[in-house]
Amino acid sequence: MDFNYLAELLFPDVTETPDDMEAKFPRRDLPEGAIVSRMAPSPTGFVHLGNLVQGLTSERLTHQSGGVLFLRVEDTDAKREVPGAVEILINSLKHYNITFDEGATIDGDNGIYGPYRQRQRKDIYHVFAKKLVSEGKAYPCFCTEEELAAIHEAQEAEKTNFGYYGKWAKYRDASIETIEENLKKGMPWVLRFHSEGSIENKIKFTDLIKGNLELTENDIDHVLLKSDGIPTYHFAHAVDDHLMHTTHVVRGDEWLPTLPFHLQLFFALGWKPPKYLHIGPLMKMDGESKRKLSKRKDPELALTFYQEIGYPVEAVYEYILTVLNSNYEDWRRANPFADTNEFKFSYKKMNPAGSLFDEDKLRDVSKEVISKMTAERVYELALAWAKLYDVDFAEKLEANPDFAKAILAIGRGGKKPRKDFAVWSELKAHMAFFYDAYFKVEAEYPDFDKADIDGIIKDYIDIYAENDEQTVWFDKIKALAEKYGFCPDTKQYKANPDAYKGHVGDVSMILRVAVTGRQNSPDMYEVMRILGKEKVSLRLANAAK
Ligand code: GLU
Repeated sequence: MDFNYLAELLFPDVTETPDDMEAKFPRRDLPEGAIVSRMAPSPTGFVHLGNLVQGLTSERLTHQSGGVLFLRVEDTDAKREVPGAVEILINSLKHYNITFDEGATIDGDNGIYGPYRQRQRKDIYHVFAKKLVSEGKAYPCFCTEEELAAIHEAQEAEKTNFGYYGKWAKYRDASIETIEENLKKGMPWVLRFHSEGSIENKIKFTDLIKGNLELTENDIDHVLLKSDGIPTYHFAHAVDDHLMHTTHVVRGDEWLPTLPFHLQLFFALGWKPPKYLHIGPLMKMDGESKRKLSKRKDPELALTFYQEIGYPVEAVYEYILTVLNSNYEDWRRANPFADTNEFKFSYKKMNPAGSLFDEDKLRDVSKEVISKMTAERVYELALAWAKLYDVDFAEKLEANPDFAKAILAIGRGGKKPRKDFAVWSELKAHMAFFYDAYFKVEAEYPDFDKADIDGIIKDYIDIYAENDEQTVWFDKIKALAEKYGFCPDTKQYKANPDAYKGHVGDVSMILRVAVTGRQNSPDMYEVMRILGKEKVSLRLANAAK
């Protein structure tokens, strides 16, 4: 067979050569050891935790090494594409601080290795497809859907492996006459790889996360170009990662089974394959056993879940680092306030089997992260969240920023900062009683005479002065306790409980319920100062009506 003749027949319009392509995509001028990697998502509109894990891994590896991270949109499967998906993708990643040095952007392409959207690279793939054909490494296949289904059925009946290989590969050795005739008839064709592999053979391969692997060789004549001339992922990935000078491919381990084919492709094209890092899946506990997070069953797989519920970006980011690098938590303990980027991320610390995702753990991390924020920052982030997801609450926050920040400052900044909420959607419940519109008495008063309760509350209206120092403030409550037959000292009360109606803590609780409507609240001295004399008095007066 004259393969050059066949190549001309199949690709008459391709005039550029592989050398022209190499010249168009020159080597990158980077320092020794600089990693070049990419995110190569398909624009399905669904951005998930796996994308973030992959993105964060490649972002850290590239930027830590002084390399380049680029975004390539793998839109070869038009059926799965959703309008606006690229925008959603870029915005979600940006939200999590994953920014690209190069690649597809919302406004087009940025960089000299583009286009960065695969459908726009069709001509480039055809140059290499033509080269493979001219070397007898690829051939056209005219099988119809029905013929392929028949092959599958026959394989089922013979209980043999499925796929287009060996004796099943109908057009592998088709004569040039048959091919020409079919082309003349206008029969649609796909371009298939001519595999020299055998499943009897193993290849040895070192994956940077999975370690040393032994994989079965590929014997399938996989499709390289579909009938519309658009490449499959396999072919596009090899061509792009070669021309874009990717040094490390970081991707999910669902691609591991096709890796032998990818390596074959690189060798067939005469290229050195990049290094591969196959990330294990994200799993969760389901009862006693672990299973992969699933799009259908687990809402927490979608990145929008975290935005909607209001996890701070820093918390999700921090949590993912915890999950990906086993030494991250120790580092964080030793460097509680350091910027996460100071941590030396390493793929060597990644678990080859995948990572366990645990929302309780994420919540703990988030509480910790929020506890280290200033009231100002909490205000800013909570407001941004509320504007999207709880407009009424946003209005309250914005109506009086100083008031909101004073509330948020309670218990912040000290040695033992408050860690009472993990997500912005929980914040309103904590702050609600400060706002008259949300305030309601939800808690029961402690079980004492109604007359005493009312008396304590009414008297306190006259006693409370908002400029009192905390000790003076408390002394007044003690005095009030004494007046109503409650012991001003808890220890003394415990020694002789029958001598009193209750103790000072009970009096504080009565005031707490009247002012906050709850039995649990932050420090009452602070709460009253923030509310101010007028509001405190009004609430007390309403309570004692
Ligand atoms: N488009 C592929 C995916 O979304 C990319 C895999 C890769 O990074 O090479 O799974």
